[in-house]
Amino acid sequence: MRIIFLGPPGSGKGTQGELIEKKYGFPKISSGDLLRQAVQERTPSGKKAEASMKRGELVNDDIVVEVIKERISKADCKKGYILDGFPRNIHQAKKLEEINQEHTEVVIEIYLSNQIVFDRLGARLICSSCGAIYNLFVRTPNKEEICDVCREKLTLREDDKPEVIEERLRVYHEQREGLVDYYQNRKVYFRIDGEKKIEAIFSDICSILDKKIDRSIEVEAPK
Ligand code: AMP
Repeated sequence: MRIIFLGPPGSGKGTQGELIEKKYGFPKISSGDLLRQAVQERTPSGKKAEASMKRGELVNDDIVVEVIKERISKADCKKGYILDGFPRNIHQAKKLEEINQEHTEVVIEIYLSNQIVFDRLGARLICSSCGAIYNLFVRTPNKEEICDVCREKLTLREDDKPEVIEERLRVYHEQREGLVDYYQNRKVYFRIDGEKKIEAIFSDICSILDKKIDRSIEVEAPK
């Protein structure tokens, strides 16, 4: 199964992706994390992506597609995977289709108002070492500004600053409608309320996935 999360920055795609990964065993792949890693490691893709990321703009499609293609070709993605942050536009969606058509596709949009995105991202902290995500209101670390998992210091992401958030949101809304239309036409699109609590959103997502999994087992059963 290929699970694609759509939603503005701060909608909880990463958090839900982690929970889904734990429950269903599909690896969660975040294009943003892969790109940040490439920037940190100073790879050729990372060097090309860095400036756009700092401004909150989309990175060139060819670079992102290459990074994703490499990741989903790994053995742990054979049975399926979860995509967080990719595709971000129709061109990327079509490229994904070209690269990999094997899996049943489920696209879940976590819907959230812009005001809530602002409030959430301003309160978001990440671990610079393991990438764990915290929130000063709803998902606080046990010890202030320290990661529960690896004990490293938590930081505000450079692109979670107000002016950059504005640009990321603008870009998101510019591309959203086309992507939603694309997946609605393919009858794989679901939309859920991102303002609910983390557990309630998780339960909504699980209901969608469980139905899809049941149906794919039914289809396979006569073999
Ligand atoms: P994210 O962590 O998903 O919010 O992504 C952080 C930044 O990485 C974005 O603001 C973009 O600059 C870049 N990025 C991540 N995913 C993509 C993508 N699918 N296409 C283009 N740029 C991306």
